[in-house]
Amino acid sequence: MVSACLAGENCKYDGGNNRNEKVLRLMAENDVIRVCPEQLGGLPTPRVPSEIREGIVTARDGRIVDREFRAGAQRCLEIALRERPDLIILQSRSPSCGVKQRYDGTFSGTLTYGAGVTAELLMENGFRCIDVEDLQP
Ligand code: SF4
Repeated sequence: MVSACLAGENCKYDGGNNRNEKVLRLMAENDVIRVCPEQLGGLPTPRVPSEIREGIVTARDGRIVDREFRAGAQRCLEIALRERPDLIILQSRSPSCGVKQRYDGTFSGTLTYGAGVTAELLMENGFRCIDVEDLQP
């Protein structure tokens, strides 16, 4: 399973993607499921970027989008429970998909340790998740 933006889908908040050649190579050789938790949670693309502030996902314009983010995480978990992926490769530092780090909620570009809400839920349920930056060539 991979973050859909890594597969080249234009599902990023700004309408772009995070196309990654290593992920595309893996996709050519394996069955891969693409998920974008923020879209699965009902958010539009493009959308206002969000960060996790004191445990609550908040958009840069101040809107609380925690419910949408957690609904998307839940949808991803349901897909993972059904499909049982061997490995989940996720976009680094995203408030949904980041595995090791995320932005700290101040919208100042400051990083903090901790996962995004989808990565966290998947790992809590025993799925092996890695940041795309940690994917070996
Ligand atoms: S939620 Fe995840 S899959 Fe969707 S655009 Fe953000 S990083 Fe990519």
